Amino acid sequence: MSVNVHLGDEEGLDRSRRYLRPVARLQLPDEPDLVHLSVYEWLPQFEAWATGLGLCGRSTAQGPLPDGTEATCPECEAYRPKYQAILDAQHEDAEQRRARAAEQAQRTAESGDTVENGAWHTVWLESGKWRWTTSKMTTPQREYAADCVAAYSRYLETVDGAGREGEPEGLRWWREGGR
Ligand SMILES: [Zn+2]
Repeated sequence: MSVNVHLGDEEGLDRSRRYLRPVARLQLPDEPDLVHLSVYEWLPQFEAWATGLGLCGRSTAQGPLPDGTEATCPECEAYRPKYQAILDAQHEDAEQRRARAAEQAQRTAESGDTVENGAWHTVWLESGKWRWTTSKMTTPQREYAADCVAAYSRYLETVDGAGREGEPEGLRWWREGGR
């Protein structure tokens, strides 16, 4: 009797995807001696990969058998094409959502290219007196000015990809409590 509980990532597995894997039968006397197929997925709440029921609906031993082990349950095999198609479609869907989100982020960043944002960005970058200038403003006013600087900074990032991470440091100094 072998126990196959994989806690780490198998080579090349993508945690956002689900896979079909061969799984062992439960070691009970009335269980047919078959290798089943199960969906193998990453469970974030347990920080682990896990298998579930067989595609045929039978309970199975936890953890996949080595990839390439032949599934011998005819019912699992009969369901395999349908499940594989579903998993492939889900993956395709997720890829498309990611691509759309990336495009959307790009468009949002590019929309930061306005005269006003550019002007505030220059004040931030060149005056050397950002803190003093914004200390003369009300909080809503300086939040607005900072929004302009941040929007222009995101736009510049799409132009030169210089690796600006998040907002420029110290941009909203008034939010940094106790300093
Ligand atoms: Zn089965």
